[in-house]
Amino acid sequence: MKIAVGGFQHETNTFAPMKADWNAFEQADSWPGLQVGAPLLAACIGMNIPLGGFLEEGAQLEHSFEPLAWCSATPSGFVTRDAYERVTALILEALSKVVEDVDAVYLDLHGAMVAEHLEDGEGTLLRAVRELAGLDILIVASLDLHANITQEMVDASDFLTAYRTYPHVDMAETGRRAARVLHQIATEKKKPAKAFYKPDFLIPLTGSCSLVEPAASIYSEIGKLDPQTGKNEGILGASFATGFSPADIQECGPAILVYGATSSLVQQTLDHLKNRVVRSESDFSAPLLTPKEAIERAPATQSDTGPIVMADTQDNPGAGGNGDTVGILKALISANVTGAIVGVLYDPESAALAHAAGEGASVSLELGAHTGGAPEETPVSGDFSVLRLSDGEFDATGPYYDGIRLSLGPTALLEISGVKIVVGSKKVQCADQAMFSHLGVDPRQQKIVVVKSSVHFRADFEPIASEVLVVSSPGPNPADHRELNYQNIRKGVRLMPGAEEIS
Ligand SMILES: [Zn+2]
Repeated sequence: MKIAVGGFQHETNTFAPMKADWNAFEQADSWPGLQVGAPLLAACIGMNIPLGGFLEEGAQLEHSFEPLAWCSATPSGFVTRDAYERVTALILEALSKVVEDVDAVYLDLHGAMVAEHLEDGEGTLLRAVRELAGLDILIVASLDLHANITQEMVDASDFLTAYRTYPHVDMAETGRRAARVLHQIATEKKKPAKAFYKPDFLIPLTGSCSLVEPAASIYSEIGKLDPQTGKNEGILGASFATGFSPADIQECGPAILVYGATSSLVQQTLDHLKNRVVRSESDFSAPLLTPKEAIERAPATQSDTGPIVMADTQDNPGAGGNGDTVGILKALISANVTGAIVGVLYDPESAALAHAAGEGASVSLELGAHTGGAPEETPVSGDFSVLRLSDGEFDATGPYYDGIRLSLGPTALLEISGVKIVVGSKKVQCADQAMFSHLGVDPRQQKIVVVKSSVHFRADFEPIASEVLVVSSPGPNPADHRELNYQNIRKGVRLMPGAEEIS
């Protein structure tokens, strides 16, 4: 079979101010930059991204590929109209040239893309692909676990499958699964029946972690529905996307999707999963502590079971935060805690001043709170000891940034009142122990480790933590969605699990 392959990934926080323009997609970040035509194959094979996994599995199954175009950009506000139109034109024009020769189209999508001029980035693209390809060509796509799956996406495609882990460690595996199911559908020469349901409540990021309940057992059930388990004759696969809540669109929120041989079978399986999810609604709200409550949980002395790890979720740079709020840092200082470390605080100016002062020096700084993520906050001002400096270039050691060379720009390890702070020059989600250890700090030897992350940190930090606490300190990514001003979301949705419906 000949398969046209491409992708267009963006997670859009419609409440965040910075837009994703053409440049954001053209440039490489920790993933490759825009790839068009043949170079796409070499750039994506071997990477832990869905397209990489799809290409590997597809080649194993002896299929060949027609590369279209692929790109991604860091999560941010709206995708500009210009970027959306140019990227989709690249994909559609390339497809129009090969459409007579291909049997299927695979797209590596996120599922929560919102452009300036349209709410459903992926549904609109999939519909355009369907119009070009006609009904005989199979269309499959992989999605992020945080996809806001829409009816249009489901209708325009033949099979969608979403990641099942958050932290996302199964991105390539999701692409492989898409290739296997596409192969099965093509072999059986029968399009699958679909069943789709959107629960009436939004799930906060911290509640969608697949390492904790209820998501952990829901994903375990979803895995058991895969054809290779041999247990569920006629089922091709199921997905539970927890949605990406900071998106003010009609179809924001979680979704359950089942594919299989007959509509009664998929409906029956969907009903089972739906009951499971709906019954667990209140459990999707992870408990949130104030900084003071969280600090009170820390032991007086360093424990041999490891540090308490606190997630500063509302300033998570992976979801629209800038990584420079100082609420928890101030709480640590005023509680006179020693043996605590905070990372990674984004403050290029302070990092530069620390570099100018040199290791061992004391430097007077106005640290953090410069970008307005928590408008009422003021910087931490005082004299900081410069303990260690680095150029911020080092290899990740944990599973989330696996294989990636991290680049934080000029970085400094500072200390004030017994609290250490890693200050970097680029916005980065603190999800790897190397962000501390490359500066000579062993996070296991701390009483408290504060990370600017919501969930991805868990892959590397949960194994060393005595306890993980989610802390609510002011920041631009509210853990409670009732703080966001939704205008376009459909009526009847509860903005938090168990909350009152909006009308
Ligand atoms: Zn995600």
